[in-house]
Amino acid sequence: MNKNEEIAFLILTGFSCNNNCIFCSNINDRAQDRSTSEILEDIKTAHNQKKYNTIEFLGGEVTIRSDFFKLISYANQLGFKKIRITTNGRMFSYPEFSKKAVKAGLKDITVSIYGHNKKLHEGATRSPGSFEQCIAGIKNIKKIKGLNLLTSTVVSKINYKYLYEIGSFVHKLGSSRWNIFDLIPDGKGAENYDILMVNYKKISPYINKIYNLTNKINITIYDFPLCLFENKFFNNEHILFFTPETRYRHSMKQVGYGFSHRVDKISKDSKIIYQDKYRIKTDFCKKCLYFNKCQGITKQYFKKYGIKEIKELSRINIGLET
Ligand code: SF4
Repeated sequence: MNKNEEIAFLILTGFSCNNNCIFCSNINDRAQDRSTSEILEDIKTAHNQKKYNTIEFLGGEVTIRSDFFKLISYANQLGFKKIRITTNGRMFSYPEFSKKAVKAGLKDITVSIYGHNKKLHEGATRSPGSFEQCIAGIKNIKKIKGLNLLTSTVVSKINYKYLYEIGSFVHKLGSSRWNIFDLIPDGKGAENYDILMVNYKKISPYINKIYNLTNKINITIYDFPLCLFENKFFNNEHILFFTPETRYRHSMKQVGYGFSHRVDKISKDSKIIYQDKYRIKTDFCKKCLYFNKCQGITKQYFKKYGIKEIKELSRINIGLET
């Protein structure tokens, strides 16, 4: 392992949460949480394997667990260089909580934020007060030396027209990287898919506008079909695309609830294909130069819109003959 290379072990801790996001892809039974001893055992396993230098906790909302500091401290004691969480940021609005978290060993915090104002953010979280707490939390995180702030945004009908504004907002808040996600058709995300999904032709101009933010903030793009993007996106060092292959490698290192099988590695016609369980690539995609890197479209999207827009976008952005 190169000594600067990050090799992360991901631990899914459970599903309890103090938000109620309209597109939450976690299973609908929110009362499920793994026990402290199970998670401590996971941390120990990661340590014993000796190849991981980073531990990442995912929920649910890991900060509302009563054993939160115990888990972070244990990973810290075992010597993990980086300890990271994904959070809605609300608990960090309590200054003491933030200080205690960094003292326990927390290093990287990815805060989910769905809008640059209360209306958009709480339209998604359906939790009054969550925007103020999230922003107060981010401000507290930024006050503490040694904490790295990242942000994540799920794109839906609620916020797609404001992606540039949201990116500018998180940059001003001090986020070092902004992750943007397409909807996952699972949990509430599946129940509400029809009302939240927007056809890609409508999203494309707004998502392409975020290119103008790359001189300010690094961006990672998750799950969107690659034909949405203008060519220049693929030659910019500040933009990363999270491919099915990256997801496969990532999920191989994830424990908790058997969620590690989102992407399968399939051998077909002497080629290796990484297949995301939520997404398909149509016959039309076979002639696309991004075929191997792209996640394709969700089954639900295909059912609702077909591939008319995909054909059009791939002609405009990739020059694919239809
Ligand atoms: S045409 Fe298909 S494979 Fe190519 S970028 Fe679009 S969805 Fe992906």
